[in-house]
Amino acid sequence: MADARPHYPGGMSSAENLAVPDCLFCRIVAGQVPADLVAGTDRVVAFRDINPQAPLHVLVVPRDHHADVAQLAAVDPGLLADVVALAHEVAQTEADGAYRLVFNTGAEAGQSVFHVHGHVIGGRRLGWSPA
Ligand code: C5P
Repeated sequence: MADARPHYPGGMSSAENLAVPDCLFCRIVAGQVPADLVAGTDRVVAFRDINPQAPLHVLVVPRDHHADVAQLAAVDPGLLADVVALAHEVAQTEADGAYRLVFNTGAEAGQSVFHVHGHVIGGRRLGWSPA
């Protein structure tokens, strides 16, 4: 039977997404690189950013490897919903539910780790524009 899952040039299908050996965030998820974990489920993990830009700056990542938010949305939209739900939960606990959720997507937009992560930023009044 034909495989109907989406495929990406140079990317991975969902069956190949579990872990990528040289991916920093896969290694954090696996406990091979230390991180300050704040919350998690069987599908997603939240940990504090090592270079915080606000009193609340947490990264929420799926345990499975997906390069960016667009790939995650296409392959597993339910998992993206789990990322958003955990981001909201952390922000409810630490910033009274007022926060910015940022997915830098592509190197030109500032993405430096190509395992999708939502930046949960809050704990102070946030200015605009973010550029
Ligand atoms: O959106 P971008 O890919 O640039 O975000 C990566 C984030 O990962 C940075 O904010 C960086 O501070 C954070 N980081 C981290 N722990 C590491 C390496 C990077 O929290 N060990």
